[in-house]
Amino acid sequence: MATNEAYMVVGGCGFLGRHIVEMLLARGEQNVSVFDIVQRHFDSNVTFYIGDLASSEDVTNAIKKSGATCVFHTASPAHGAGRTIYELVNVSGTRNLIDSCFDSTVRRLVYTSSAGTVYNGEKDNINVDERLDYPAVALDAYNETKVSAEKMVIRANSPELLTCAIRPSGIFGPGDRQMITGFYSVVLNNQTKFQIGDNTNLADFTYVTNVAHAHLLAMDKLADVYPYFSFRDPISYVDASMG
Ligand code: NAD
Repeated sequence: MATNEAYMVVGGCGFLGRHIVEMLLARGEQNVSVFDIVQRHFDSNVTFYIGDLASSEDVTNAIKKSGATCVFHTASPAHGAGRTIYELVNVSGTRNLIDSCFDSTVRRLVYTSSAGTVYNGEKDNINVDERLDYPAVALDAYNETKVSAEKMVIRANSPELLTCAIRPSGIFGPGDRQMITGFYSVVLNNQTKFQIGDNTNLADFTYVTNVAHAHLLAMDKLADVYPYFSFRDPISYVDASMG
């Protein structure tokens, strides 16, 4: 059901971000905007802000102009971009976004993290949940920066800004520009004569609209978490949490 909120999808021209935009529009949301470094979609009913997450000016301008109250943060560089870019976008960019959220009308932030934040290849994660600790050493630079971003988002959770992080594993479906292309190039390059593990390994893959739906559910649910206090009123927040 449509709400009266103003939604911004950061990374909304990407694979997952686009599905979130389409799902918001499909449920009748009237106020949807996108912040992305490149514009790949053109909808008359969506406002596109083109800018770099690593630029605090770009982020602040977009957030302020949009009047967003709810932000989905799905932006991240593609695998292979390198540590410097990962740090710029995932770490500095996420910090810029959180700062802008606190300094604006944004009240809820849902971050797309990754299952890679709790997996470094040393042991299988079977039937685990969010209580699982981060590994001492991350799988790679990409996941190291996803961990930093996720920690910032979770720590920012407060009466002023309700936050949540979702950790998808592999995502597949229409619009994917990375996974199937990667698998396909392996076949094209005749790189198929290898086996990973002992042929009993399991990996989770989730259909993209299910991941997008999870983001909308998380965003909606954040609104219910503290139903009794008014934002920016620490006294009633304390009362509500004690009740
Ligand atoms: P994607 O590359 O399709 O989308 C990311 C979007 O972010 C792109 O539109 C890109 O232009 C934008 N972006 C990148 N750098 C930016 C910058 N500096 N400023 C503004 N925008 C920028 O990726 P995706 O597959 O849709 O992934 C979305 C999120 O889901 C990412 O955070 C990723 O870590 C996470 N994730 C993806 C998978 C997967 O299998 N695809 C699995 C787990 C987690």
